[in-house]
Amino acid sequence: MAELDKPRPKSFGDKLLDLGDSQNKLEMPCSLDTESNSFIGGKYYVLRVDDTWQPAEVLQTRANDSGEQEFYVHYEGLDRRLDEWVSAERVDFESKAPAVHRKDSISTYNDIIDKTDRKITRNQKRKHDEINHIQKAYADMDPTTAELEKEHEAITKVKYIDRIQIGKYEIDTWYFSPYPEEYGKVPKLWICEYCLKYMQLEKTFRYHQGHCEHRQPLGNEIYRYGSISVYEVESSEHKLYCQNLCLLAKLFLDHKTLYFDVEPFLFYVLTEVDRHGAHIVGYFSKEKESPEGNNLACIMILPPYQRKGYGRFLIAFSYELSKFEGVLGSPEKPLSDLGKLSYRSYWSYVLLNILRETRGSLSIKEMTQRTSITHNDVVTTLQSLNMVKYWKGQHVVCVTSKAIEDLMKDGLFKDPVLSVDPEYLRWTPKRKALVSSKK
Ligand SMILES: [Zn+2]
Repeated sequence: MAELDKPRPKSFGDKLLDLGDSQNKLEMPCSLDTESNSFIGGKYYVLRVDDTWQPAEVLQTRANDSGEQEFYVHYEGLDRRLDEWVSAERVDFESKAPAVHRKDSISTYNDIIDKTDRKITRNQKRKHDEINHIQKAYADMDPTTAELEKEHEAITKVKYIDRIQIGKYEIDTWYFSPYPEEYGKVPKLWICEYCLKYMQLEKTFRYHQGHCEHRQPLGNEIYRYGSISVYEVESSEHKLYCQNLCLLAKLFLDHKTLYFDVEPFLFYVLTEVDRHGAHIVGYFSKEKESPEGNNLACIMILPPYQRKGYGRFLIAFSYELSKFEGVLGSPEKPLSDLGKLSYRSYWSYVLLNILRETRGSLSIKEMTQRTSITHNDVVTTLQSLNMVKYWKGQHVVCVTSKAIEDLMKDGLFKDPVLSVDPEYLRWTPKRKALVSSKK
């Protein structure tokens, strides 16, 4: 997943004051139950999906649909994305963690799953298989970041919405999102894939599907090639839609803190089109005015569409818009680790292609002008490829055609699955060009 997001130094409270629409009522997003519960805060060994017993903290409890108690647990040292609701069978209340633990005779996760007749979805399995990210300890952060992180975790620690239905997909969620109270605590939320209205009940969803007047995102279609289509959504014209989009995105992004104050942004929604309509795949947002020259604020691809080249497509799209505006651009910092990888791969590919096509010398300035990639991003990318030297106070590109060919043969730099053809962009920039660097 291309996930790029920036923790902003504002609390949820600030953002929630901006609510104006009937569907999104002004409420504290996640007021935890105040009833005393002796399990909350307790540390126990909990059986994870990989059949291991891990020390974990109980953060919340609830009764499920059948009235059985469930526990929301955070596994020590593991990413919060792996926090989950578990049944009582998976918590060993006898043994207070941490202690050396032997669990040889205890039933396995799969036994318990069979017993409780629950299935591990493909997504859960994938999540478990692929994520081994260890969370940074507070001690490793600077004091401000640590404070913000603690606040962030306090507000977002319990993820109530386990999954969503959007269009034909049922998707397991990854993180907390501040849907208003009565919507924010249901295990499954139903979302219209076109207008992004969210509903608690399947029957409301079915009724809405028959009556929703939209078959595409709100806003204007600015790109269409084959079955791929991109819409530009002006947040001041479609505020509720943009807020709903941010709430949806938060289910899959840990550090997004913008939900309601959407007006400074434009949203670019990527869709796959078929005879039924234009189905949302993902989006990126972009500040209407960015003194820092950011051309992308936040990017998200829905899980069923990940790993298919859509994230790369949106990154390329953001640069096509910058080229159209005649400005240089860069994503908002800091980038997540995955964001760094995605961008580094995009920049390398674009720069290597230019170097390969160009005969004679090419300055860094010319490269920035032709790609809209900033000077700093060009230099750091070329440095990572070992293609730049610092000589007499200047960065000098230093590369042979053989070196380029060798790198291009490397699987990292293969042609993208989906590329943006600027011929098909029908767009008038809303932002004023600050720098004229058009070729
Ligand atoms: Zn709808």
